[in-house]
Amino acid sequence: MQRVFSGIQPSGVPTLGNYLGAIRNWVPLQDTHDAIYCVVDLHAITVWQDPKELARQTREMAAALIACGLDPAKCILFLQSHVNAHARLAWIFNCVARLGWLNRMTQFKDKAGKDREAASAGLYVYPNLMAADILAYKAVLVPVGDDQKQHLELANDIAEKFNHDYGVPGFFPRIEPLIQGVAARVMSLRDGTKKMSKSDPSDQSRINLTDDRDAVALKIRRAKTDPEPLPEHVSGLEARPEARNLVGILAAVTGTLPENVLREHGGKGFGSFKEVLVEALVDHLSPIQAEMARLLDDPAALDALLRQGADRAAAIAEPIVAEAERVVGFLPR
Ligand code: ATP
Ligand code: MG
Repeated sequence: MQRVFSGIQPSGVPTLGNYLGAIRNWVPLQDTHDAIYCVVDLHAITVWQDPKELARQTREMAAALIACGLDPAKCILFLQSHVNAHARLAWIFNCVARLGWLNRMTQFKDKAGKDREAASAGLYVYPNLMAADILAYKAVLVPVGDDQKQHLELANDIAEKFNHDYGVPGFFPRIEPLIQGVAARVMSLRDGTKKMSKSDPSDQSRINLTDDRDAVALKIRRAKTDPEPLPEHVSGLEARPEARNLVGILAAVTGTLPENVLREHGGKGFGSFKEVLVEALVDHLSPIQAEMARLLDDPAALDALLRQGADRAAAIAEPIVAEAERVVGFLPR
């Protein structure tokens, strides 16, 4: 079976973007692939996280993933900091990746903002750790949102350079990104040109998986739109990023295509469309929220699942990373 790896940062509450662009696509892969999913807490601290909040958000993220359909009996689910192979391989990759490569990464530029000198060194080498997450398992398929495509290209460059420099052709495999669906890049509700992010300072910019009916209704009603009615055809969405985003979200949560959404709502104003969208979102999110609440009610059981996941993950990653260390010339312990 092909091995799949993906991760999500416990840097906030999972958003609709995380769900539609990533988590939802992870679920069916459990049945067809050897699937490994990770809450990447090492990545989260590349920007400041309050320690108590980080601990709370990490459990919440694990609960959200299970509530969305990940089954620890069918996949490996664990916390990144529990398996030290990730950090060890990341260090080797820090020494393989070139500064010039990292300088081109748009996520660093976006997240560092204007004061780049004040960004953490961890944020800069984030893609090297991400490459290590995947390659510590020699995973070949990585289901992610569209924003992570550039990091996966870099991971392939790192793997190729490692294989070449150390004379071990094929040691690390080529990685294929799996970027799926009409909502592979869900945009902010306040600005259709910016992606929705769980760490955006504005809570109004996103739908959180934990938002109740009132919060969803308020955010969708306030979501930025333009004054035109909805177009009849998808071609009419091209220069209208906010409209395109909302149509894409409704299509994704109702399991259809944007053209079908427009067949029903084309020519109408946003008012009635937004009410339909609120109902669809609430219907979709309520069962996930109920399951999350149930799981968070028993943190000891959740922690035990994560410990078991870490043991299973380490059993795969440890020999691979030990072999990489031997290739580099480190003496075995
Ligand atoms: P942060 O703001 O802390 O970076 P994030 O919302 O970007 O959080 P990540 O943990 O960085 O979430 O990414 C987890 C997964 O969600 C990745 O596969 C990423 O591609 C996907 N993802 C993130 N935002 C979106 C989005 N707006 N649309 C679709 N997929 C997304
Ligand atoms: Mg992100």
